[in-house]
Parts: sequence; C-alpha cells; structure tokens
Amino acid sequence: MTAISLKDIRKSYGSLEVISNIDLDIERGEFVVFVGPSGCGKSTLLRMIAGLEGINSGDLLIGDMRANDIPPSQRGIAMVFQSYALYPHMNVYDNLAFSLKIARIDRAEIDRRVRIAADMLQLGPYLKRRPRQLSGGQRQRVAIGRAIVREAEVFLFDEPLSNLDAALRVATRIEIARLKERLPDTTMIYVTHDQVEAMTLADRIVVLNGGRIEQVGRPVELYDTPRNMFVAGFIGSPA
Ligand code: ADP
Ligand code: MG
Repeated sequence: MTAISLKDIRKSYGSLEVISNIDLDIERGEFVVFVGPSGCGKSTLLRMIAGLEGINSGDLLIGDMRANDIPPSQRGIAMVFQSYALYPHMNVYDNLAFSLKIARIDRAEIDRRVRIAADMLQLGPYLKRRPRQLSGGQRQRVAIGRAIVREAEVFLFDEPLSNLDAALRVATRIEIARLKERLPDTTMIYVTHDQVEAMTLADRIVVLNGGRIEQVGRPVELYDTPRNMFVAGFIGSPA
C-alpha cells in the first residue's frame, strides 16, 4: 500500500526552482532516507509533505487522498526537527503530553501513550526532569517521543541528529533503528546529509541533488551500482 505519492512535484521560491519533477512512491511502513548536499531541497520536500509549504505543480497523495484536500493537522503526520524545541518550563512528561492535552484526549489515554513512548525511548527515569537537566541525546528522544504519542502514521525527521556530538549521534541513531523495528507499520521519512545514517537506517535511499532525484534504491544497490559520480561520491565513500 502506498502511503505517500509524489507525482511530478515542483516548487519555486520566486524565480528559483528548488524542487524539479520529483516522482516518488513511498510504501506504508517503509523507512526512506533523503540524502543530498546542503541546499538540495531536502527540508523543502519534507515541509511540503507535512503541509507546511505549498506545491507549485504536481500532485501529492497521502494514502489515496490528495494532500490539498487534507488540512496539515489531519494528515496523520508528525515531524521531528533538528532543534528539539522542547518547552523549557515543563518536565518530560508534560512535554510529551502537551499536544494530546490540546487535542482534548482524556487523561488516562494520555498517560497510556506517554508511558509507551517513554518505554520505547528509555525515557522512563527522566519523566520528572526539565529539558535543561537532560543531555542533548535525551532531549532529542523527547522530541521523537512527541511524535510517537500522536500515533501518527507518518514520521518525518529533518536531520534529527545533527546537533548531537558524535557519541550521542550513534546512540540516538540506534534508538531510531529500534523505533523502526517497534513501529513496523509507521512510514518514516528521514533527512540527513550523513552517509552512515543513510546506509544503516534506510530501507531505501533517495539521493537528491539540486532539487532532482539522482537515484533511488536500497543502500546496497546504491553502494554497489551508483548511477553516476555524484551518487558514488555521496554513498560510495563512507564518512
Ligand atoms: P536542504 O534542506 O537540502 O539543505 P532546503 O530545502 O532548506 O535544502 O533549501 C533548498 C533551496 O531552497 C535552497 O537554495 C534554499 O536557499 C532555498 N529556500 C529554502 N527555503 C526558502 C524560502 N522560504 N525562501 C526562499 N528560498 C528558500
Ligand atoms: Mg534542511
């Protein structure tokens, strides 16, 4: 089943075309990684899928619905950014619960979901702490937890590890790999410019360059048979 379908998507800012003729189908439960150099349009693509950014032409389907017909809040999509933007005055529990309180979900259900998310991300011991009492990796796990509690069908990650130091980056990457195993039906789209993250997390990698797709394939396919020098340079040489 196709979760997200991009059909000849284009996007310009003024006269600058930043996304050109993107065609891509993402299956339900797939973990797809967008890689490419800074400025190639990765974040723009994610924001379009999330509905935070309009599309100039083409079609974006979420399930079998046209995205334009679904308001962003009802797309079943949760986004995790590189800056975690936690509420500094709330403890971890309340940071996780906040969006559910706004949605008027009842207290017992909120508690159930917060505890499941905390368990998945090993945040149980930290529920009463404030963000400033956490490491960067723990903060990023809280940010991921806020996506989990919403029980979204699609998670979008925009370079979620790029603000972490090397050791925390590895630990948090392993946490995200575990999350993928525990939520096999959740579709995950993950943006990075880090080859190692792409190679280790992805079911499929989409290599972007200048707003276009250079190649799409399983990590081993791109590694073994890159279509051109750009893909080889990006995937073939481990960082
Ligand atoms: P990436 O996430 O791959 O680094 P982005 O999607 O952020 O790239 O940006 C793609 C291109 O679009 C860049 O050239 C960037 O400068 C431009 N861009 C992004 N957002 C805007 C905006 N709001 N207005 C004008 N140009 C933008
Ligand atoms: Mg970006």
